[in-house]
Amino acid sequence: MKVGMIGLGAMGLGMARNLAKAGLLTAVYNRTTAKTLEFKVATYDLPEALAAEVDIVLICVSADQDVIGLVEAIAKTIKPGSIVVDLSTVSSDTAQKAAAILLKKEVIFLDAPVSGGVEGAKNGTLAMMVGGNIKALEKARPALEAIAKRIIHIGDTGSGQATKAANQIMCAGINQAVTEALAFAQSQGLEIDKVINVISGGAAGNWFLEHRGYTMTQDIFTPGFKLALHHKDLKICQTMAAQSDIAIPLADMTVINYEQLMNDGYGDEDISALYRLKKL
Ligand code: NAP
Repeated sequence: MKVGMIGLGAMGLGMARNLAKAGLLTAVYNRTTAKTLEFKVATYDLPEALAAEVDIVLICVSADQDVIGLVEAIAKTIKPGSIVVDLSTVSSDTAQKAAAILLKKEVIFLDAPVSGGVEGAKNGTLAMMVGGNIKALEKARPALEAIAKRIIHIGDTGSGQATKAANQIMCAGINQAVTEALAFAQSQGLEIDKVINVISGGAAGNWFLEHRGYTMTQDIFTPGFKLALHHKDLKICQTMAAQSDIAIPLADMTVINYEQLMNDGYGDEDISALYRLKKL
């Protein structure tokens, strides 16, 4: 199976390196070509050129329109029987649209968004939630196991993205809770590293506290996960929630907070920059 990777951003780069380490990477494409230089595999100037040469195309790019643009481009050249796995976070509607475009070319599309941050991408320990044909997932699994530790088939096309939307709502709540609690702890004059250390070992311990607590309280907001990308995800969640008539007030508040931070020029910072609005 020849595997090609499209998108070498904060997430895609770690994924491609792990695929290369496992001897499973055949080809790479990135819009900014300089990022492909470290790879000793075939590199292409166009995504459609890559798609013509491989059996499995992995995509990890920013947003809905980027995924659709790429799928439309690769549909021109991709071989029937190939599998396209989208690891980006986009809407379920986009997953269904992409699947329909590729089905016309006898190509199977899987929506397979991931969670676990850039650390998970770097270490190959991501959690992956997959929607689409289960047999295609089993074919692609050896490649996907190089980038994810937990791979769960959820259901039909779009169900991976719906699961990721639930994950992103949860991340919004965790971000609100951790930034608010640490700003409170600092206001009490506590030694913040000790606070993070002890809370991490108790019932309120969580990944975000352990990985972003120490940095945010030193005003370090290097991504990580760009705030503007989480904002994009929460807008998707709002649309899906409205369609299902369910309220997501925590996510709504986080969207308002992120928009304030983006207007102030912090959109490229890590989501822990929410701490800027909480601290004294
Ligand atoms: P990123 O660092 O901003 O990288 C985005 C990548 O997409 C870059 O390689 C970029 O190419 C490429 N790209 C964007 N628009 C494109 C287009 N129209 N055509 C071709 N390539 C395009 O983003 P990231 O953090 O890797 O996130 C990628 C996806 O994973 C997003 O959907 C995000 O929501 C999701 N995600 C991120 C995290 C995280 O912690 N960062 C965690 C889970 C999921 P250039 O290099 O040319 O700009």
